[in-house]
This record gives sequence, C-alpha cells and structure tokens, in this order.
Amino acid sequence: MLSLEAVSAGYHGLAILHELDLTVGEGEIVALVGANGAGKTTTLRTISGMVRPSSGSITFDGRRADGARTSDLVARGLVQVPEDRALFGPLTVEENLRMGGWLRGRDRLDEALAEVHELFPILAERGKQAAETLSGGQQQMLAIGRALMARPKLLMLDEPSTGLSPKLTWAVLDAIKTIRDRGVAVLLVEQNAHQALALADRAYVLESGTSVLSGPGPELARDDRVRAAYLGL
Ligand code: ATP
Repeated sequence: MLSLEAVSAGYHGLAILHELDLTVGEGEIVALVGANGAGKTTTLRTISGMVRPSSGSITFDGRRADGARTSDLVARGLVQVPEDRALFGPLTVEENLRMGGWLRGRDRLDEALAEVHELFPILAERGKQAAETLSGGQQQMLAIGRALMARPKLLMLDEPSTGLSPKLTWAVLDAIKTIRDRGVAVLLVEQNAHQALALADRAYVLESGTSVLSGPGPELARDDRVRAAYLGL
C-alpha cells in the first residue's frame, strides 16, 4: 500500500529524516512511536506531500507519490488527519463532514456520511451543531470522520489522543480498529506508546529521523529498550 525507501527530508535545508524505510500493508495499522522531535510528524507530512523529500522514494498504491501534490494524493486515497484537527469551527458538524467528501459524487457522499454516522453516532446527533461547540473527543471524532468522507485507502493520524481522557482515547483507538476492519490501512503517530503498541499490527520506533526498531506492536512492547525508553518501565 505504502512504501518509503531511504527517504530523507527536512526544513530549509536542515535534514530531519535520514534514509527512512517504512511500509504499510493493506489492512494494517502501523504505529510510529518515538520521543518529541524524533520526526514523526515530519514523516507524515512528507508522505502527504507537504514536505518534499530531498532523496529516496515513496510509493503509494503502486505509483510514485514523492513529488505529488497533497490534493492529488487525497484523490488517490491518501488522507491525513492533522494534529490540530483543522476543523471549520463555525460550520456545523454535517457541513464539516460534507466538505471532507467534496471529491466524491453526491450519491457516494450520502453513503460515506451514513458510514461515518454508524462509526460515530454522536456526529449524527450533533449534526446541526457548530463544530466549535463539540468537546475535544467529539472534535477528534469529527476530524477522523471528515477524513473518512474522502474514502481513503490509507488514513494517517497524528496524535489522535491529544487532549483526550483515557476513556475517550480508548473510544477513538477502538474506532481506528473498526476503520481498519473496514479495509482502510492506518498509519498512526501516537505520543502514548503504550496504547499505540497495543493497537498496532506493526510499529516503528523513530529516533533522530530514522527507524531504529520495528516489528509487531505487542512484540515491541515487550522489548527491553522500548520498555525503558518509551513505556517508562
Ligand atoms: P513531536 O511529538 O514533538 O511533534 P515529532 O517526532 O513529531 O515530535 P517533528 O514534529 O517531526 O517531530 O519534528 C522534528 C524536528 O523538526 C524538530 O526538531 C522540529 O523542531 C523540526 N521542525 C518541525 N517542523 C518544522 C518547521 N516547519 N520548520 C523547521 N523545523 C521544523
């Protein structure tokens, strides 16, 4: 589905990612864990075309993706939920959702909306309410729902649990599993390594812009280096 080979990238000539290799297979949840500043967000922004790699290649769904425009990648099925959620606050919940599906025809849009409502019933209940009046957890659900309206093949999530209570965090992570079970691959950046590794089919540990460890999530959670550095054990 997605493959990065020796990708280097950064800002204003300053390299942040160093020859990063990473893959996401069909129907997989893959997590990226690592300390602040390790380059997790930069990895997502490079994949989604917001940061251009200085070398290496990115392939998505069988075609090259490095150098492509973000809007073209969205049309190809690669959709990112940004960390700040970037909702349209004064617009209603339903208007936000419909904007996520603007690339789809009207029929597909109603179908996608029904699927999002099934996943997050609260978004149907609050459909006519301004997005800015939702709680933090509901806003995160709306941001994910809006991304799903574009019918992604790969959904990228940047720290979806930021600002959420543990209970709501698990609700959002549960929804991510359901999304995967519906056939959407997921690449997840999560500050909470414990939860990310419990959820992920596979995970990568990023340090200074490169992958230093990778493997099945539960296996990494048992790794002494990961336990010491990221799980506080
Ligand atoms: P965090 O959890 O803190 O977001 P991260 O692993 O996601 O960490 P990145 O946000 O990718 O890390 O940041 C990696 C490095 O790139 C940091 O040193 C950061 O200061 C730098 N950086 C991030 N965005 C920019 C930018 N727009 N311009 C210049 N440097 C940036």
